[in-house]
Amino acid sequence: MALLVQKFGGTSVGDPDRIREVAEYVARCRRRGDDVVLVVSAMGKETDELLRLADEVADTQPGREMDMLITAGERKAVALVAMALHSAGVEAESFTGSQAGFLTDSAHRNAKIVEVRAHRVRDSVAAGRVPVVAGSQGASGDNEITFLGRGGSDTTAVALAKVLDADACELYTDVSGVFTTDPRITSSARKINRISFDEMLEMTAAGCPKPAMRSVEFAHRHRVPLHVRSAFTWEPGTWVTEEDSEMEDAVIRAVIADQQEAKVTVSGVPDKPGIAANLFRQLANDSVNVDMIVQNASEGGITDISFTVPHADLARALEICQSERAELSAAAVSSEPRIAKVSVVGAGMKSNPGVAATMFETLANNGINIEMISTSAIRISCVIAESDSDRAVQVLHDAFELDKSEF
Ligand code: ADP
Ligand code: ASP
Ligand code: MG
Repeated sequence: MALLVQKFGGTSVGDPDRIREVAEYVARCRRRGDDVVLVVSAMGKETDELLRLADEVADTQPGREMDMLITAGERKAVALVAMALHSAGVEAESFTGSQAGFLTDSAHRNAKIVEVRAHRVRDSVAAGRVPVVAGSQGASGDNEITFLGRGGSDTTAVALAKVLDADACELYTDVSGVFTTDPRITSSARKINRISFDEMLEMTAAGCPKPAMRSVEFAHRHRVPLHVRSAFTWEPGTWVTEEDSEMEDAVIRAVIADQQEAKVTVSGVPDKPGIAANLFRQLANDSVNVDMIVQNASEGGITDISFTVPHADLARALEICQSERAELSAAAVSSEPRIAKVSVVGAGMKSNPGVAATMFETLANNGINIEMISTSAIRISCVIAESDSDRAVQVLHDAFELDKSEF
């Protein structure tokens, strides 16, 4: 008999039929003898819809009211799931994040968990019921409702698994696990059976949406084994765990494309100490999240600096660059929103030379121009035109034979 935290994403509870299917599945788990704690996301695209409504009624969106609004999606979903469980013969009770004991800081829209006082959830399990907890939410010290950010339900589930000392944290979604690349885009993508936290973290940093990055960081730090799996076929999925001897060191494990970033170029700046320091300090002071940075070789003491930021930070980054232009003695500031970052990730590249060469040759042979490059010990990322993104993923996936590998 195991204690399982099972988290269901938006598509998994997207309509009444899906909610009934989830309830039947949980009933089967209970009959098998497992204790289950559920974490549920808002149904389907409801979070996007709530954000769109907010855009329609107001230009200024106070964090407090936004969090009250967004968290309503999960609140509705947990009540419906708990009712469906009752109908399936399972005693269940829904909890908001606050009722489940999620204490957070007060950074609205992106709050961090400070502590989980899970006694109500624990009592519920001890009484033979299934607690159904609203994902991605909590309450701050001054008792305001907070939202943990997009994809935060994965983090809710991992945090609960940790405090309850659960046997596993199962993240049910609309694909059957973590794949060698997005299976929606590349039909030859293969499911990865086992992957280490380190590789999974690099994949999420490179733009893989599943599992959410913060949840992987949390799971890694607290050694919570993650099982990413399908809420449609219920087949075994991908285990994300500490690296072990059974894990084959694939040279390349996955190819990831990320279209969430834009490129900013500050051109004609003097090549002298302090310029980059000044620019990136100003960006940091305004919480602009800079990812890749490239500075060209200087010509006549003048150079260009390019960097990438999430689309959401682009307007702010441009404002800062413009206002610092005189201070930086820069000739111009420009931006390119239609870029993609393609990355290859694999722990085996540490001991296998030639991965970068293969990646660059493959892109070159397919006429795809590389605008920026960055690397970590187990990842190589290239910025290319957004219009080349899907093709780049396909040719790299083929070049590294990810369609053939057995993990
Ligand atoms: P949920 O809402 O269930 O939490 P998300 O919609 O956030 O899940 O993420 C699941 C989606 O992630 C899948 O539908 C899939 O298209 C996409 N995805 C992108 N890259 C990958 C990958 N390498 N492996 C698995 N899924 C991926
Ligand atoms: N519903 C929220 C979102 O769409 C939280 C989550 O699903 O994790 O981001
Ligand atoms: Mg989601």
